[in-house]
Amino acid sequence: MQKLRDNRKSRVDELVTDILSTNKPTRKFLPHPLTEDSLYQTISGYTNDVQVQNFLESGCAVCGLLTTKSCLHKLHTVAFDRNLLVPDTPITRVERRCASDHILSQPGSVLLPHCNDICVECMDNLQTGKLPADSLANGLWIGEVPSELQGLSWTENMLISRVKHNYCIVKVHLSGMSKMKANVVSHSLPMAKVYQALPPTREELSKVLAFMYIGPNVPTQKEFQRTPLLVRRNKVAMALEWLKLNHADYADLEILYKNLSEYPPLVVVNFTQSMGSNKDPESTAVNDDEEDEGTE
Ligand SMILES: [Zn+2]
Repeated sequence: MQKLRDNRKSRVDELVTDILSTNKPTRKFLPHPLTEDSLYQTISGYTNDVQVQNFLESGCAVCGLLTTKSCLHKLHTVAFDRNLLVPDTPITRVERRCASDHILSQPGSVLLPHCNDICVECMDNLQTGKLPADSLANGLWIGEVPSELQGLSWTENMLISRVKHNYCIVKVHLSGMSKMKANVVSHSLPMAKVYQALPPTREELSKVLAFMYIGPNVPTQKEFQRTPLLVRRNKVAMALEWLKLNHADYADLEILYKNLSEYPPLVVVNFTQSMGSNKDPESTAVNDDEEDEGTE
């Protein structure tokens, strides 16, 4: 023990000699207070960085991406060849309301509607005579999202997509009949499924979507209304009809109203009885004293 102590002491002595022997200039422990100049620079640098235009974002009319206002310029003040934004082949479409309407493309430059700004990146590209890779005119135009395609539930989105890449398993926990928690697990399909006719039959859908319901009782209509698995038949029919009229990839689609009428308001459910809490004990925080997770 004594030997160990001696060894340690000699090591400390060595270190102290090392430090003392280095010829570093001695530094005063307390640094000098800030000069008025550096104080002014620090404060004005900070106030410039927190200006509201460094945080506010707005869209770029050329690429449609959200950009901070400090990096945007007014489109009409920037000089470049406007013809760069006019595509050689039509890539836009005027919305059709019925099958007898002609397919027309929007005339002129492809720009984001109601937007008058351009981002620095698009401006630099256009001023050197190049079409920006992210620009809407470079085949990325999709148009405004119509009301028919807004607010679709997760299952409704699955019913209208022509290509399915994944198997999905949805697990909904409900305990005490008060709170609900849902998890979705997706696995990629070995080969993507492409549908010539939509919506798929219920059996077809059950091959790519499984729904497990875990709770103390068999789920009732009230619980179903809160899940992301509702199917509103008229909403799906309207979305498919709109896509067939307006989306080039849906033009040859067959809409199977018979399949749609087979769907109940909710897709097939496997029910498992459970009285416990819906919380995962391994991922619960120490200060988490709620009985269950989820929405009331
Ligand atoms: Zn842009």
